Amino acid sequence: MSPTRVKLSREQVAGDFVKSVNEISGQNVLNCYQCGRCSAGCPLTFAMKCLPSQVIRLVQLGLEEEALESETPWVCASCLTCHARCPRGVDLAKVMEALRAIKLRPGKKDRINLRDIPRETLSKLPQQGLVSGLRKLTG
Ligand code: SF4
Ligand code: SF4
Repeated sequence: MSPTRVKLSREQVAGDFVKSVNEISGQNVLNCYQCGRCSAGCPLTFAMKCLPSQVIRLVQLGLEEEALESETPWVCASCLTCHARCPRGVDLAKVMEALRAIKLRPGKKDRINLRDIPRETLSKLPQQGLVSGLRKLTG
């Protein structure tokens, strides 16, 4: 859906969705000024209908449904090329991870704290999965 066809409100733009994405990702999506460098460098845009910079725009505008329905967060490989290219230091991989978390865990927008996992459980969890998750800052 084109954002230009959507009626926006102040509540949407400064609303809970933007706050949740910022909180979970540790980023400030409002720092993005839509230069497009992330999308220009992303190696997976061939498989995306909505470019990474367009997804972050949807988030900035508080268009939750459109952002969560985009397949882009699921195509993103967390390669961090976009982060390396962003002049505003926005880590889109973390934003994509936040969108996946919100989609998968509606109403549970908290982050996992590694210290809350018992040591015994921690030793049984797949270490590669843990490292991968932490790299993307789900925890
Ligand atoms: S490179 Fe950074 S500032 Fe430019 S569009 Fe992407 S996220 Fe926004
Ligand atoms: S981290 Fe995701 S959005 Fe960013 S360049 Fe890599 S695949 Fe594209």
